[in-house]
Amino acid sequence: MVEQAIDVAVIGAGPAGLAAAIKAKEAGAEKVTIIERAEQLGGLLHQCIHNGFGLVYFNEDLTGPEYARRFIEKAMDLKIDMQLESMVLDLTAAKRITISSKEGLRTFHAKAVILAMGCRERTRHQIMIPGTRPAGVFTAGTAQRYVNVEGYIPGKNIVILGSGDVGMIMARRLTLEGAKVEAVVEILPYIGGLIRNEVQCVHDFDIPLFLEHTVTEIIGLKRIEAVTIARVDQNQEPIPGTERTIECDTLLTSVGLIPENELSLKAGVALDPITGGPFVSDTMETSVAGIFAGGNVVHVNDLVDSVTSESEVAGAGAADYAMGKTTPAGRKISLKGGENIRYIVPHTIGADKEVTLSMRVREPGEKVKIRIGDVFTKSLRVVKPSEMLKVNLTLEQLGKIGEETGEIEIICEKRG
Ligand SMILES: Cc1cc2nc3c(=O)[nH]c(=O)nc-3n(C[C@H](O)[C@H](O)[C@H](O)COP(=O)(O)OP(=O)(O)OC[C@H]3O[C@@H](n4cnc5c(N)ncnc54)[C@H](O)[C@@H]3O)c2cc1C
Repeated sequence: MVEQAIDVAVIGAGPAGLAAAIKAKEAGAEKVTIIERAEQLGGLLHQCIHNGFGLVYFNEDLTGPEYARRFIEKAMDLKIDMQLESMVLDLTAAKRITISSKEGLRTFHAKAVILAMGCRERTRHQIMIPGTRPAGVFTAGTAQRYVNVEGYIPGKNIVILGSGDVGMIMARRLTLEGAKVEAVVEILPYIGGLIRNEVQCVHDFDIPLFLEHTVTEIIGLKRIEAVTIARVDQNQEPIPGTERTIECDTLLTSVGLIPENELSLKAGVALDPITGGPFVSDTMETSVAGIFAGGNVVHVNDLVDSVTSESEVAGAGAADYAMGKTTPAGRKISLKGGENIRYIVPHTIGADKEVTLSMRVREPGEKVKIRIGDVFTKSLRVVKPSEMLKVNLTLEQLGKIGEETGEIEIICEKRG
């Protein structure tokens, strides 16, 4: 098999892959190739036809396809090589990439690689809902594709399990299309997605929201006919006697997203068990030298704008690596999640350039303070696990981290 030598290979042409490839090219990498298994560029954005994209990055309110279009056009202007309908089957630590394409199996040897494979949805199977196996049970993302891309309505009476953003957005979408959303059922005492989606997609349409409830049974033989829901206790176990039956012809699940890291594992990239994505440095480099990562493959972002910014860092880092411009190893500071901090990305930082940290809390809180050692504090009125927190650390703040410090703890504490 003939092997094609390139500077930077980008796996995935969603917003992460497009932003990373553009940045790599702008930073000076000559041969940049995006490899995408779908027949079009843009990743999941082409099925997200609602607005709300780009508010941070462009200060404009765009739909998913409009947001993607800006990057697709730029990538084309820069003459970035695009390999569509090409599935990456294998990736090695030596950065050999095997793809299956219309021309058959092909291999690339890249100086640097950017992982941008996004994430996939958890399914009914993974949360093990008891009951029969009728038609009419879909993930919310599959239903989104049916409605927005293929032009099919999955059903007329819908129950949505889980209050992730995709599920809430589909509650509104299906209502607008004439279906009746009977209930959104969430096991936690709070919603799983953004507050703006709770307000604009659930409350504004008077859709019943059952917090601290779950689906305990799926009923129906050929097609789903009803679900049983029940209140749960503190251990998320259904409370006997609280069951009620809701008739429906469709159940959508919106119960979490899983970063797609099977290829990363093949290359020996170390994964963070909390995020499900690679451990990354402040250049978004993984544990394997020259393999970088950006977007939902690293951690599930709430806003595509953050996916873009983070992936631009990966693109710049990959270009530098491919051109042999790596800076001598300076200080490496590990970030540790302390009180009520579930995770932080990146996992390690240097002290020589400004950095944006993304983090999530474990539990909701009010009147809290984010504290990073003695270097940074920020007061916040409300924090929720579903809303990503962003902190920019300036060079001055980084300079205040003591020379001997190898690790710094970030906490989210109650204000006195
Ligand atoms: C089902 C679903 C629906 C969503 N809907 C919304 C929404 O309505 N609103 C919102 O704000 N956010 C939504 N999101 C979040 C949105 O996906 C992200 O903001 C953004 O698309 C993430 O960008 P990404 O580039 O990291 O991943 P993606 O957009 O998922 O792009 C990853 C790309 O990698 C490709 N790929 C993966 N593996 C391979 C491989 N082995 N070989 C070649 N190509 C590969 C995929 O085909 C895909 O094009 C949704 C997410 C999911 C999973």
